[in-house]
Amino acid sequence: MAISKPTRSLRLILGDQLNHQHSWFDEVDDEVVYLFMEVRSETDYVVHHVQKVVAFFLGMRAFAKTLEGQGHRVKYLKLDDPSNKQDIPENLAMVADELKVEDISYQLPDEYRLDEMLKGFSESTNRKVTVCDTEHFMTSREDLATFFKGKKRYTMEYFYRDMRKRFDILMDSDGSPTGGAWNFDHDNRKKLPAKVELPELRTFQSDISDVLSMLEKQKVETLGTIDASNWVWPTTREEALETLANFVAERLQLFGTYQDAMTSRDPFLFHARISFAMNSKLISPLEVVKEVESYYNTHKDTIEINQVEGFIRQVIGWREYMRGIYWAHMPEFAEMNKLEHTAPLPSWYWTGETKMSCLSHAIGQSLEHAYAHHIQRLMITGNFALLLGVDPNEVDAWYLGIYIDAIEWVEITNTRGMSQFADGGIVGTKPYMSSANYIHKMSDYCKGCHYDRKIRHGENACPFNSLYWAFVDRHRERLARNGRIAQMVRLWERMAADERVATLNQAKVYMQNVDTL
Ligand code: FAD
Ligand code: SF4
Repeated sequence: MAISKPTRSLRLILGDQLNHQHSWFDEVDDEVVYLFMEVRSETDYVVHHVQKVVAFFLGMRAFAKTLEGQGHRVKYLKLDDPSNKQDIPENLAMVADELKVEDISYQLPDEYRLDEMLKGFSESTNRKVTVCDTEHFMTSREDLATFFKGKKRYTMEYFYRDMRKRFDILMDSDGSPTGGAWNFDHDNRKKLPAKVELPELRTFQSDISDVLSMLEKQKVETLGTIDASNWVWPTTREEALETLANFVAERLQLFGTYQDAMTSRDPFLFHARISFAMNSKLISPLEVVKEVESYYNTHKDTIEINQVEGFIRQVIGWREYMRGIYWAHMPEFAEMNKLEHTAPLPSWYWTGETKMSCLSHAIGQSLEHAYAHHIQRLMITGNFALLLGVDPNEVDAWYLGIYIDAIEWVEITNTRGMSQFADGGIVGTKPYMSSANYIHKMSDYCKGCHYDRKIRHGENACPFNSLYWAFVDRHRERLARNGRIAQMVRLWERMAADERVATLNQAKVYMQNVDTL
């Protein structure tokens, strides 16, 4: 856009700050310019999935257009703009000079890296810099640490119950939780029977061609594939609301029951696919849970409480909790490696080319859709990396790159914390690890797999089995001190000596030849 009017204030909007309902936009002010920028520092700090980069740029461009349509003044720097310095502070200074503004505002970034970068900018400029809240989350950066002040453990369940009370979500008028319990997990976690039909997938007709050809011309390195005819990610506010409405109407009814199920029949099952829309702030967590709660209140005859509670816990519990953990423990969190893991990530994490059916499927769908649901991330790709002893930096880089919703505050707490136990137990009370038993119990992956889920060693023995016990053996001192898992150490120690030797030998062979599995 050509900017000719005098400008009093420049307001920066980062790619994950697409909050249409922010109070910044309550009034149109001719003297304010909103600045968006597509920069190489963001496309290149890790190799991202191509759908992730396209989704962010589409979302930013659509939001900028909406603001202009409402009469706001916008300055948008595309990635291939010749004046673009490809760096956030440098662009900020350049545009501030160009517009001769003395006043710059930005919203609190959700990533430590960007927070430090913008603090550094504020300290080095002689302009007045104001920082505002993003008005997205239900809690502040510090709320979680304040809630648990003086406590040894940050137990998610207590925080979640407090959130239910504070925001009056699924609460009866007498102060008790709706349905008579806080948690209905025992009704959930079922395997998906073959006869259960899965809802049809809705796609969006977004025009991805401009962004895609720009990324190609600018030689931005990406991973994964993209297909315009199969584009499922909401990148406008309307599409975000449509995704939520579609979830509530077609998937919520069985969300809880099959929340942990995995199948090669479908990548999304009954999940909401709302994380990108929420993490980019197109939609707020409060409006998501209010919509779900309101559906429950008007359809009590046809929907069970476990479906609704299971979903709400993820959003007001886990999501807000992870953000609180992030701000309570950064920057140390990003360096933690309590299990001292150093192995490289198997090369097939980047291609999906492995004979292990579960990993091939979970990685394959991640490359195709930039998506895997929670249990695939935790109990397939995460579990295998943990059992192998992969360096958490490599695991983080993979998760941060491949998923559509991967932004460090929620990626690293889940990956380094919950999945890799590299934090030594800040997020989870025990490492999330399993042998083939759990994978078979929760999925249809083992049927037809090259490997045999029932054996620990010998021809085609499932690698999860020997690696599981080798992990227990390697970390037995630490695990024996953990009440939730000590029993596995005792089981291992009671196993016949020759069985233990054969299992450890099998694990060694698999670890030495991991790229051929
Ligand atoms: P649904 O299953 O429909 O759940 C609804 C919403 O609940 C999600 O959109 C999400 O906002 C929230 N939610 C659920 N579980 C979690 C959780 N553990 N932490 C925070 N929010 C949660 N989520 C991300 O948003 N970004 C990430 O980078 C990310 N990385 C992960 C890495 C690992 C190793 C694991 C185990 C989980 C990760 N998650 C991450 C959490 C979860 O897998 C995704 O939020 C979820 O799969 C997104 O898909 P959905 O919207 O269909 O979720
Ligand atoms: Fe995965 Fe093992 Fe089952 Fe194959 S047999 S799908 S490798 S758990």
